[in-house]
Amino acid sequence: MKKLLFTFLALFFISCSQNPYTHRPQLILISPQQEVEMGLKASKEILQKSKVSNDPYYNQLVQRVASRIAKVAEEEFHPGFKWEFHVLDSPQVNAFCLPGGKIFVYTGLLKLVQNEDQLAAVIGHEVAHAILRHGSERVSMAMIGDIGKKLLAKGLSIGGGQWGPLFDVAYGVTTKYGVIYPYSRKFEYEADELGLYLMYKACYDPNEAIKFWYRMMKLPKQQVPEFLSTHPSDENRIRALQQFINTKLKNVPRNCN
Ligand SMILES: [Zn+2]
Repeated sequence: MKKLLFTFLALFFISCSQNPYTHRPQLILISPQQEVEMGLKASKEILQKSKVSNDPYYNQLVQRVASRIAKVAEEEFHPGFKWEFHVLDSPQVNAFCLPGGKIFVYTGLLKLVQNEDQLAAVIGHEVAHAILRHGSERVSMAMIGDIGKKLLAKGLSIGGGQWGPLFDVAYGVTTKYGVIYPYSRKFEYEADELGLYLMYKACYDPNEAIKFWYRMMKLPKQQVPEFLSTHPSDENRIRALQQFINTKLKNVPRNCN
């Protein structure tokens, strides 16, 4: 019983976090350090098991755009990530950012974006999910769903290997498990706004984000990329993006020479 109480207290302290952008309280049962460790482990596995692209054009492109987004993210939100940018040679239309700042972009996506601003929109959106700790929030929800049973059975070992697969799925590392969990609408709206903010501050044109999402939405059903099944898109969402650009974003100062 004492152990159970201790576990609950530990959970309580770990879970007292706040969304750094919206300031809404978040229930997260994984500490930022554990999250970063899991991100690093997942990143190493992906690099071992995937075909890393050596294409100099694609690598320079991702390096150039992602480092500008990462710089703004560090300056404004101080996650203290050790950023890395990787291009994976795969027709999948996908990209994700793991906690700790490990960004992966697939060549399938690079072929689809029409300019650097559209790539900045995708990377900004993914970095926003990582800064906002959405993946860990989703893992935590899954943990809570199962928590009673697990607690009673053996106490909860937070951050243990048992959460690894959930963690990967939550952050969009779907190749290994073939499972796709769409982000909730709330998380998408948050990542959209913060993503736009990041790209705007990095001196990219946020209107290109709107063009990209529209283009993705209009693709015929059979061509819908993996990226869209994890980030469902609709007219309302795009309207919200446009409104954010027209109202809030235009008043944000930025320094672009
Ligand atoms: Zn998303």
